[in-house]
Amino acid sequence: MLKLKVFPFNPLQVNAYLIYDLQGAGILIDPSCLNHAEFKELQDFIANNNITLNYQLNTHGHFDHVFGTGMVKAAYNPKFLIHQSDESFLIMAGDQARSFGFEYQGTQPVPDGFLSDMDTISTGEIHLKVIHVPGHSQGSVAFYEASEGWLFSGDTLFAGGIGRTDLRGGNYDQIIASIKDRLLTLPSETLVFPGHGPQTTIGTESPDF
Ligand SMILES: [Zn+2]
Ligand SMILES: [Zn+2]
Repeated sequence: MLKLKVFPFNPLQVNAYLIYDLQGAGILIDPSCLNHAEFKELQDFIANNNITLNYQLNTHGHFDHVFGTGMVKAAYNPKFLIHQSDESFLIMAGDQARSFGFEYQGTQPVPDGFLSDMDTISTGEIHLKVIHVPGHSQGSVAFYEASEGWLFSGDTLFAGGIGRTDLRGGNYDQIIASIKDRLLTLPSETLVFPGHGPQTTIGTESPDF
């Protein structure tokens, strides 16, 4: 049995997902905390629940999803993994954030490794299968936890919508193919936890495609 805590961080309300097991082994998906106040909220939760943060994983490299990677790495030293096709976004994240008006001085750490399609990232009772879903960006991935029936879909699939494809590396036909071939083929009761907004299910979203 796994537990899940959602933190909608920063003005763009990027959902950071903290998955942890009963022994406290933890994985953080999309460390999107922008400032020390948001980071403290995460730290307090980690401390209060005796969580050992072993991984921080990114669904993709857009700046609003990586704000907290440096703070989290410095405090807990989890393995930081992202798809290699989105690595170049990390270097630009600070400049991009400032160009959108964010007061942000953080930096992103060098990844400890790269996520590939069909990898499984495991710690304790958590087993996340990596599903490469290019289209929102070329390095977009989703994470599937089969025992709980949870899918972390990043900015690829939202409740009632899909991610934008007008940014660098975006491709509309590709995101539709990724969703149809790789996500909608999961069990219809799968709970979908998107990068922004409320959760949904595969069965709820399927008729729209
Ligand atoms: Zn994005
Ligand atoms: Zn996003």
